[in-house]
Amino acid sequence: MAMANEGWKSELTARLSRVMPEPEASLCLPLIEEIRALKAEGGAVVVAHNYQVPQITAGVADFTGDSLAMARYAATTEAPTIVVCGVRFMAETTRLLCPTRRVLLPAIDAGCSLADSVTAEGVRALRERYPGVPIVAYVNTTAAVKAEVDICCTSANAVEIVESLQAPRVIMLPDRYLASYVATRVACEIIPWAGACEVHERFSAEDIAPFRNSDVVVLAHPECPEDVQAAANFVGSTTAMSDYLIRTRPARALLLTECSMADNITVAHPGIRFERPCNLCPHMKRITLERVRDSLRDGTTQIVIDASIAERARLPLDRMLALRT
Ligand code: SF4
Repeated sequence: MAMANEGWKSELTARLSRVMPEPEASLCLPLIEEIRALKAEGGAVVVAHNYQVPQITAGVADFTGDSLAMARYAATTEAPTIVVCGVRFMAETTRLLCPTRRVLLPAIDAGCSLADSVTAEGVRALRERYPGVPIVAYVNTTAAVKAEVDICCTSANAVEIVESLQAPRVIMLPDRYLASYVATRVACEIIPWAGACEVHERFSAEDIAPFRNSDVVVLAHPECPEDVQAAANFVGSTTAMSDYLIRTRPARALLLTECSMADNITVAHPGIRFERPCNLCPHMKRITLERVRDSLRDGTTQIVIDASIAERARLPLDRMLALRT
């Protein structure tokens, strides 16, 4: 048993050492061990977003992926407690899809500039201004906003969701760049909301310029500005980026998204050299191993959604999931 215990520690240290000095990787181990014991004790699962640091994704997460995949994975388990290593809207989505479980967000103050850019009142004002026009909300929205819209989408399925509506005009919120990405790929008119992700909006085509005419493959998230998307070799969600890299295995790549994404791919699939720049999300980085431990131990960072909002917010998510895009 002790041998098996030492086995996972040395294997994890070796993987983490691909992205940090080995002494730093070893320093995380006692906390990771403590979290693993708390998880086993309470039958909890930990889901982590691709933008979480490798100490969390490789060290304590049972599943790592995009926000919807996290919630979907959690729903397939029987765990009474789900710890969401991400931001608040992700924990809310998990709670909506797992209404009978206890959902913990280790940093209860982990918000999101994009989700905060639109309110339920803002959506109601849109309804009045554009009567009869369907409203699609990116999953990066609060439960209160989801309660006001017709259907949800992710960055991976946004085009298919809009096409499924077969409407001449569709409102998309809150990300203006995702809306413009979709507008170039569908036949209908897209009415965008003016929100943006503070992490992806900071990228510019100048970030890509040094890599033109080189072997560096440039991948951009659809939350990046239009000129960045136009200059990239591939545009897609975090899951699509990861699948693309694992499939094509370029020698060098530039990921125009949150920095931990490249670290997590390096830990799981070494061999690709990632170039900079990348941008950090300050909200995602509020989640730390200490906070995960405290959340599991104390259970004080529970996500609760008002029942009347939850009931309505679940509908647009269910409609999206029913389309199986
Ligand atoms: Fe929000 Fe952007 Fe951070 Fe994601 S990366 S949590 S969209 S601010």
